[in-house]
Amino acid sequence: MKADYYETLGIERSASPDELKKAYRKLAHQFHPDKNPDNAEAEARFKEASEAYAVLSEPEKRAAYDHMGHAAFQAGGGGDPFAGFDPFSSFGDLFNEFFGGDLFGQRRGQRGRGRRGADLRYDLEVDFQVAATGSEEALRIPKHKRCEDCSGSGGDRETCSACGGQGQVFLQQGFFRISRTCDRCRGVGQQLCRACSTCSGDGRLETMQKLNVRIPPGVDTGVRLRLTGEGEAGYDGGPAGDLYVVIHLREHPLFERDDSDIICEVPVSIAQATLGCDVEIPTLEGTDTLKVRSGTQSGAIIRLRGQGLPRLDGGPHGDQLVQIFVEVPTKLSDEQRELMERFAAISGDDVSPRRKGFMDKLRRLLD
Ligand SMILES: [Zn+2]
Ligand SMILES: [Zn+2]
Repeated sequence: MKADYYETLGIERSASPDELKKAYRKLAHQFHPDKNPDNAEAEARFKEASEAYAVLSEPEKRAAYDHMGHAAFQAGGGGDPFAGFDPFSSFGDLFNEFFGGDLFGQRRGQRGRGRRGADLRYDLEVDFQVAATGSEEALRIPKHKRCEDCSGSGGDRETCSACGGQGQVFLQQGFFRISRTCDRCRGVGQQLCRACSTCSGDGRLETMQKLNVRIPPGVDTGVRLRLTGEGEAGYDGGPAGDLYVVIHLREHPLFERDDSDIICEVPVSIAQATLGCDVEIPTLEGTDTLKVRSGTQSGAIIRLRGQGLPRLDGGPHGDQLVQIFVEVPTKLSDEQRELMERFAAISGDDVSPRRKGFMDKLRRLLD
């Protein structure tokens, strides 16, 4: 059962031509294939809405539909007259008006030329360091390239005999002239009469392409670099697809990443944290010496401004965060134990300010 045209567009049967146009414009925007690539449901909705609009926007057809429903357009009871319905060739001007020309203009500009080649994806694993410095990587990409011997045409061509070079065939069905992409020439309007011997008429050749790609500083895992026209060659002389290089950053043995900040944990001994010390830390450039002040607590973060990673958008560098971890000894020699016990005896249990504050609050709670 075919859906009711008015319901498809979400309008009353009494809707004015203006309301009709508005409703269709809204749906066409929402479900346009260029906005919903590879979404079969959206495409179906788009076609349904377009078909409904094609009928209801013409007073004669609308009257016939109001009177007889879908039966008005079933020619001799055979099949769906809209089976080959192509909204783009039917209302090109309307789409230009709706979408400002560029969306539909692209599609129209491609008519009469071959299909665009497929996009390719290449997953590239790079060292963490690349996020800091960027790099140039040499890739080898298996793909189809254009056959130069025939300039991608596949050989000598003549006007397609099935469509007379139009790329479309037209069928008359009741009120409608329905256009369909020509099967023989796939809409190009020309057919091969002598195939190129290099590519056997395909117009494309399998190849392993070497390509240098520049990885900008600031990249992160999941960043996609788009190389326009470096995908698969098009068909019948159509434009090539794009190549997407998807970055995977290897982990760093010492750094964690948080956006453009890098974080590293630096363990120090109780004595170092208590007395203060200089520690060697890793940086993006190599190593550096960091001053840890006496009395530094475990978990304390020392922020080195601007020592993090660059940003893809060219904004200021991130920071390096050094997180101090005070390591409590787990094995003590007799002498260390003795000294620690002496230290405890001299200090008393509640000597440090934080400990004292905690015990004060605890006692108040118990009173
Ligand atoms: Zn043809
Ligand atoms: Zn060729």
